[in-house]
Amino acid sequence: ATIGQLLQSTAARFPDRPAVVFRDQGIRWTWREFADEVDVLAAGLASNGIKRGDRVGIWSPNRVEWLLTQFATARIGAILVNVNPAYRLAELEYALNKSGCCALITAECFKSSKYVEMLQALAPELDQCEPGQLRAARLPALRLVVRMCDTSTPGMTTFSDLIEAGRVARETVDLDAIDAALSALDAINIQFTSGTTGNPKGATLTHRNVVNNARYIAMAMRFTEADALCIPVPLYHCFGMVLAVLASVSTGAKMVFPGEAFEPASTLAAVADERCTALHGVPTMFIAELDHPDFAKFDLSTLRTGIMAGSPCPIETMKRVVARMHLSEITIAYGMTETSPVSFQSATDDPLEQRTSTVGRIAPHLEAKVVDAMGNTVPVGETGELWTRGYSVMRGYWDDEPRTREAIVDGWMRTGDLATIDAQGYCNIVGRLKDMLIRGGENVYPREVEEFLFRHPKVQSVQVFGVPDEKYGEEVCAWIVTRPGEQLTEEEVRAYCQGQIAHYKVPRYIRFVEEMPMTVTGKVQKFVMRERMIEELK
Ligand code: ATP
Ligand code: MG
Repeated sequence: ATIGQLLQSTAARFPDRPAVVFRDQGIRWTWREFADEVDVLAAGLASNGIKRGDRVGIWSPNRVEWLLTQFATARIGAILVNVNPAYRLAELEYALNKSGCCALITAECFKSSKYVEMLQALAPELDQCEPGQLRAARLPALRLVVRMCDTSTPGMTTFSDLIEAGRVARETVDLDAIDAALSALDAINIQFTSGTTGNPKGATLTHRNVVNNARYIAMAMRFTEADALCIPVPLYHCFGMVLAVLASVSTGAKMVFPGEAFEPASTLAAVADERCTALHGVPTMFIAELDHPDFAKFDLSTLRTGIMAGSPCPIETMKRVVARMHLSEITIAYGMTETSPVSFQSATDDPLEQRTSTVGRIAPHLEAKVVDAMGNTVPVGETGELWTRGYSVMRGYWDDEPRTREAIVDGWMRTGDLATIDAQGYCNIVGRLKDMLIRGGENVYPREVEEFLFRHPKVQSVQVFGVPDEKYGEEVCAWIVTRPGEQLTEEEVRAYCQGQIAHYKVPRYIRFVEEMPMTVTGKVQKFVMRERMIEELK
C-alpha cells in the first residue's frame, strides 16, 4: 500500500474514533476529519502544480501542518523533504538545493530561529515576485513558499490560502485516482539523518520502506485502535514520522502531540490528561521526565508500552522507566534513518534482562550480520560492524552515488555501528565505529565506560570520547553533568574507577559541564565535544 492508502483504510475502519490531538494548537480530530483535511491540502498542493516526484520541503517543529503535509504529499506522490528545525541559512540552502525542492512549507519560527526572516534573507527576490512564481538566485528550484500563518507576506502563500485553494480544487481533483496510480516503490521522502556525526545525509525512502517498517513496529508493540500514543519526538525525524505517526496510522491508535518541542512537563501532562497507553522517546527524554521535580504528580498509570531508541539506552534508565513509569512493555528499538528506520526491536514478552540490556532481535523479514574490517562475518558473540538487509534499506542517498555505493554493499546497509549478536539472536549495540577509540593499542568502547560512570549516584549524564594524543594515539575523555545540587571532583571520579575498570579506560580528561551539545532529536554530538576539547588542549 501507499501511505495515502494506509490512511484511507484506517479512516474507513475507524471514522469516528479519535485520531489526532495537538494540545497547544487546540486540535482534536477523528480519523475521518483528519483524512479529509489531508485531502483538502493534497488538492491544494495539486492545484498549485505539485505533482508526483516533486520535492516539497517542510521546515517546522511539531505542528499539525507538518502532519498534514506528510500525508498530503504522499497522497499525490510528491516527495517530502524533512528539513531539520534547527537548520540555519547555510544548511537550509544546502538541503533545499540538494533535493531540488520546488515548494517549501515553513513555520514562523522555532526557538530562536526566525524562519520567515531567514528565508527572506536567502531569497530577497520574494519581495518582488507573485506567490508561487519565485525565481531566486540562491534557491533556483524553489517556486512556492508557504508560511503557517494568516498574515500575507510578499511572494509567499499562507497555509490558509493553500487550504482554501484545496477546498475549491477538491471538487475536480480525483485524489483516489492519483493515489492508485502511484507505486509503492516510488520515493516518498528524503529524510536527512540526525547529523550526530557531523554530516546529515539525505536518505531516500519509498512507501514500501516506511509503511512496512511502521506495521511491524506497531505489531511488536501490540498496538490497536484502543491505544493512545504520546509523541514528544520530532516529526522531522523518522522516529516521529514512522515509528510514531505511521505506526499509529496503520493501527488506528490515537496520536497525542504535547507541543512544538520536547519538554518533560508538557509530555507528562499529555500522558496523564489524554490517558496515553504508549510513550516514545530518546533516552535523554525519558531521563528528563524521570528527573522532573513534579514527576510524582502526574498519573501515568494508563501507560503500557512505547519505544526507547535513537541512541544507547542506559540499562539503569530502562529499569527506572519500567519500574516508575508503568511502562512494563516498553521496547528498545535500534535503527537508522537509512533503514526506515528500525531493524532490531525487543519484544514486549522478552525477559526483562534482555529487554533492558539489548536492542532485541532482528525485525521480521530482515537480515543482519556482524562483520570484521574485511567484511567477513565474525563468530557469534564477537564485536564487529553491524550490517542489515531487506525491504527497509533505503534506495540511496539523494543525488549522491558515491556515498550510496560506500553505504550499501550487495543490498547490505553498513550501519557504522559496532554490535554483538548472541546465540539467541539478541543484539547489543556497543557504540559507533566512529566513536571507538584506540588508546595505546587497546580498544576502548565509550559506551562501556559511560555505563560504568552513569552508575555513580552523583552523575546525571556522561559522555565518553577520544581525543588525539601524541603518546597513546588517543586519550579517553569524559564529560559529566552532575545531578542537581551535587558536586563531584576529578579525583573522586578517578577514585571511583580505580580497580573497577581497566586502567586504559579510566578517563584522562574529566570535565564537568552544564549540558551536552545535542541535535534536535536529543542526540549528543560527540564530534562537537571532541572539537572543543582539542581546542582546549592545544
Ligand atoms: P548522522 O548519520 O547524520 O551522523 P545519526 O546516525 O545519529 O546521524 P540517525 O539515522 O537518526 O542519524 O540515527 C541512527 C543511529 O542512531 C544509529 O546508527 C545508531 O548509532 C544510533 N542508535 C539508534 N538506535 C539506537 C539504540 N537503540 N541503541 C544504540 N544506538 C542507537
Ligand atoms: Mg548515521
